[in-house]
Amino acid sequence: MRWTASFIPPRKEVPSEAELVSHRLMLRAGLIRKLSSGVYTLLPLGLRVLAKVQRIIREEMNAAGAEELLMPVLTPAELWKETGRWDVYGRELMRIKDWHDREFALGPTHEEIITDLVRREVRSYRELPKNLYQLQVKFRDEIRPRFGVMRAREFIMKDGYSFDRDERGAEATYRKMYDAYVKIFTRCGFEFSAVSAESGAIGGSFSHEFMVLADSGEEMLFTCPKCGTASSRDRAACAKPVAGSECGTGKMEKVSTPGMKSAEQVASFLKTVPAGLAKTLIYEADGEVVAAMVRGDMEVNEAKLMRELSCSELRMASAEAIQKATGAPVGFAGPVGLKGVKTVADCLIAAMKDFVTGANESDAHYVNVNMGRDFTPEIVADIRFAVEGDACPLCGSAYAVKRGIEVGHVFKLGTKYSKAMNAVYLDEKGVEQPMVMGCYGIGVSRIIAAAIEQSHDDNGIIWHPALAPYHVAVVPLNVKDEKSMACTEKLYRELESRGIETLLDDRDAGAGFKLKDADLI
Ligand code: ATP
Ligand code: MG
Repeated sequence: MRWTASFIPPRKEVPSEAELVSHRLMLRAGLIRKLSSGVYTLLPLGLRVLAKVQRIIREEMNAAGAEELLMPVLTPAELWKETGRWDVYGRELMRIKDWHDREFALGPTHEEIITDLVRREVRSYRELPKNLYQLQVKFRDEIRPRFGVMRAREFIMKDGYSFDRDERGAEATYRKMYDAYVKIFTRCGFEFSAVSAESGAIGGSFSHEFMVLADSGEEMLFTCPKCGTASSRDRAACAKPVAGSECGTGKMEKVSTPGMKSAEQVASFLKTVPAGLAKTLIYEADGEVVAAMVRGDMEVNEAKLMRELSCSELRMASAEAIQKATGAPVGFAGPVGLKGVKTVADCLIAAMKDFVTGANESDAHYVNVNMGRDFTPEIVADIRFAVEGDACPLCGSAYAVKRGIEVGHVFKLGTKYSKAMNAVYLDEKGVEQPMVMGCYGIGVSRIIAAAIEQSHDDNGIIWHPALAPYHVAVVPLNVKDEKSMACTEKLYRELESRGIETLLDDRDAGAGFKLKDADLI
């Protein structure tokens, strides 16, 4: 391609809102332009990179036995209502009405749509398994769209879905997809890690996230240098502390803490540290009020808490519900004398001595509280987020904490969608069985940003050859010099004829200026 014939807008000053290097470089190098918040045009250079990523994905998906199709972006509300996600998805789901007042969603993911398709077409065990995928634009009304195409409201995704006869088949398909993802991200030149993760709003029993390692990544990964496990922050298990056999000897006393609600406020008022406190948070789990206790400097991991309670819905209790359950306003809940409320204490609480808790009374806390002596929780379990310095529960060595960008996600869905939508087949005996599903996403446009985030220098992007928009830039230093032009033209044509993607910078501009652009791109 000749530069003068191509649409590569000149280098541009970047707005201050572009915090990430990849966002700034994509704007400066003319890969993207913003249309509105979280909505971007991929310029020709950006599209060339996207096409390369798509090609790698197609090749590996097809080789692993999946087949491409293309579903509509416009999806009828009825299907979302069948699984309840019309309500559960919340504000991220972009909804529109047609002129008959019928409701639609712009697809953020396609479990419902593909399940509807497959349940209509597949009847017998002989037609299974099926593994289908698409490369398509997705819409999610992200609360905080940012970092350019990294977290956009309209973006390109590869989403795949598998349907198997049974758990064993689904397991094998999941493995194949996992392996295909390893090949895809290896071909993209990434340094990445596959971590076991929570399944989130999509649901299902098990999942792995593929993380590109980069200091600017939004996600935290907990990896064990010794036994090699890797988990997302949501999933990272914490080793149980070695608790001393005796509890503290301090005398439990009620103290006045006027207006002190947060762990930090109470700690500084009582001249201690947040780690000397136990926070008690009141939740509603499937409608039942429960109390969750973690050390004052820790955070409750709601996914872990949900697993311990085997509940399907968990939310913070309202101020009224807290007042009713504890007899005190928000900020003063504690386990001592808390009646009729199931209490779940994090393992760390068992190792604490003479700590501070709320007194279930306005403006009051207890000091010198000890578990076992002053209260007994119904459940003691790992219910907090792991933090730097935590030990791996498998081998005891300290987790290494890294940051990453999530570029892909594979889920074992089980029968969540097939049961909700009655996607069944007839087995060998003619008995109806629900199909066992999996789903597999890749953030195709996010990959471009992740690649740049991981590989750049002060002068610009350093592409892996598999993703580079062009392989060679031929830069005549002076286009008015006939000899120089003839030479570069010849070189350009020769390279092109050998299938080497070449950009000839035939602009009438200074050599330094052009070399700088080549370096940037
Ligand atoms: P995140 O935690 O980053 O919001 P997610 O868990 O919502 O991601 P999935 O539903 O698993 O994402 O979607 C599959 C893939 O699509 C993700 O792994 C990610 O790479 C990409 N993706 C998700 N949301 C966006 C977005 N707003 N912009 C660009 N890519 C996205
Ligand atoms: Mg998301």
